[in-house]
Amino acid sequence: MKRPILLHPDPRLKKASAPVADLTDELRTLADDMLETMYDAPGIGLAAPQVGVLSRLIVLDCVKEEGELPQPMAMFNPEIVASSDETNVYEEGCLSIPEQFADVTRPKLVQVRWIDRDGNAQEQEMDGLWATCVQHEIDHLDGKLFIDYLGPMKRQLITRKAVKLKKERAREKA
Ligand code: ZN
Repeated sequence: MKRPILLHPDPRLKKASAPVADLTDELRTLADDMLETMYDAPGIGLAAPQVGVLSRLIVLDCVKEEGELPQPMAMFNPEIVASSDETNVYEEGCLSIPEQFADVTRPKLVQVRWIDRDGNAQEQEMDGLWATCVQHEIDHLDGKLFIDYLGPMKRQLITRKAVKLKKERAREKA
């Protein structure tokens, strides 16, 4: 089932999410719903706080080439355990800040540890777009948005546009 995505600015997007203690069916359903919501958007990553649930869960699928098999991933309690000094710049966007994009510099390679949907601990090195995406999504669990990496002018400009867009969308729904 698709879930509505919260739009910036929203206080829930600025909060730190709580670790997942038990992998319940409810949480697995949430992961499935988040994947469905992400693919439908369409996007390559989504964090639970973006659908209003303050739990440490992210989903991602950064396969962008047409004809390649999808690679849906759900990560509970994901954490970056190591990151490279070498950096990468990607033009990032966010499903909670539609139509706004900006270059963000992040470590190129990260070692990520998480619990998978079967409750097993996993660890993997991620590179390129996957590395950027997983860092962007984990940031959401700490109440951090990609615009927080930008200078104050650019951040305020994007936020003003986001406020306007949010009002327009609210009017469309009313
Ligand atoms: Zn985002």
